[in-house]
Amino acid sequence: MSYKVITICNQKGGVGKTTTAVNLAASLAHRNRKVLLIDIDPQGNATMGSGVDKNNFEFGVYHLLVGEADAKTAIIHSETGHYDVISSNRDLTGVEIELMQRPAREMCLRDAIASVRDEYDFILIDCPPTLSLLMLNGLAAADSVLIPMVCEYYALEGISDLLATIKRVRQTINPTLDITGVMFTMFTTQNKLSQDVSAQLRNYFGQRVFNTTIPRNVRLAEAPSHGMPALAYDPKAKGTQAYLALADEFLSVKLPASSLGYLKTVLR
Ligand code: ADP
Ligand code: MG
Repeated sequence: MSYKVITICNQKGGVGKTTTAVNLAASLAHRNRKVLLIDIDPQGNATMGSGVDKNNFEFGVYHLLVGEADAKTAIIHSETGHYDVISSNRDLTGVEIELMQRPAREMCLRDAIASVRDEYDFILIDCPPTLSLLMLNGLAAADSVLIPMVCEYYALEGISDLLATIKRVRQTINPTLDITGVMFTMFTTQNKLSQDVSAQLRNYFGQRVFNTTIPRNVRLAEAPSHGMPALAYDPKAKGTQAYLALADEFLSVKLPASSLGYLKTVLR
C-alpha cells in the first residue's frame, strides 16, 4: 500500500468501520508496522476498543482540532493493540460549532497531524457515519479512503452517497483523495442476496475490491467489551485471522501511480 493516511468511511452506521479500524490497526502492528489510529467518531468506540477509557483521558481529537494540544501530546499507546491512538469521546460532538467560525475548518485534522506523519507507516482514521464537518476533516486529512460494506440491498444506496461525497471532496478540499478499495464485512457466503450484491460491487469497483472478506464472527463483536482488538482477545478466531489476511492483502496492494482514469469511471 503506497498510501499512508487511510480514512475508513461509509455514510452508514453498523457496517464495520470501527471493527475494521481497530483490527486492521492491530494486524498491521502485528506485521511490525508503526500505526496511529485516530478516532474521530464522538461515540469513541475505536478508543474503547483499543483499551483506552473514553471517559478518562487528558487530550484527544477534540483538543487537537481546537488547537489545545498538539498531536504528540494527544497520542496514547494502546497496550492491547500495540499501536498508538488519538482518542475521542462525547466532547467531540461540540467541536463542529466551535470550528464553524474558522477559516479552512475542514483542514484542522490534516494540519494537526502533519507533525507526526513521518513517524508512522500508516495512520488510520475511524470516521463517524454522518456527513459532517468531522467526516470532512477525516477525508481532507486522508490520502485514500477504505470503504467497509455489508452486502445487503441498501448497501448500494449508501455507497452512492459516499461516492458523491468523495467526488465533492476531490473537487474542493482534497483533489488527490483516492479510493484504497472496498471490503466486505459480516460476510456470509450462504446468502444469495449477499452473493448478488457482492458480484455487483465487484463489477462496479473492479480490482479495488479486497479478495479477503471478513466473516460474521462473534469474537469480533465481543473483543471491544474487553478493551482489546480481536488479536489480543482470541488470536485463533476466524474473524481475527480474516483481519490478519486483510492486512496482508492491504500491504501487498500496489495502486497505480495515477488513479485518475479509475476514479473518473467510479465517481461518474
Ligand atoms: P460502524 O463503525 O460502521 O458503525 P461497527 O464496527 O461498530 O460498525 O460494527 C457494528 C456492530 O457489528 C458492532 O456491534 C460490532 O461489534 C459488530 N460487528 C462488526 N463486524 C462484525 C463481524 N465481522 N462479525 C460480527 N460482528 C461484527
Ligand atoms: Mg463506528
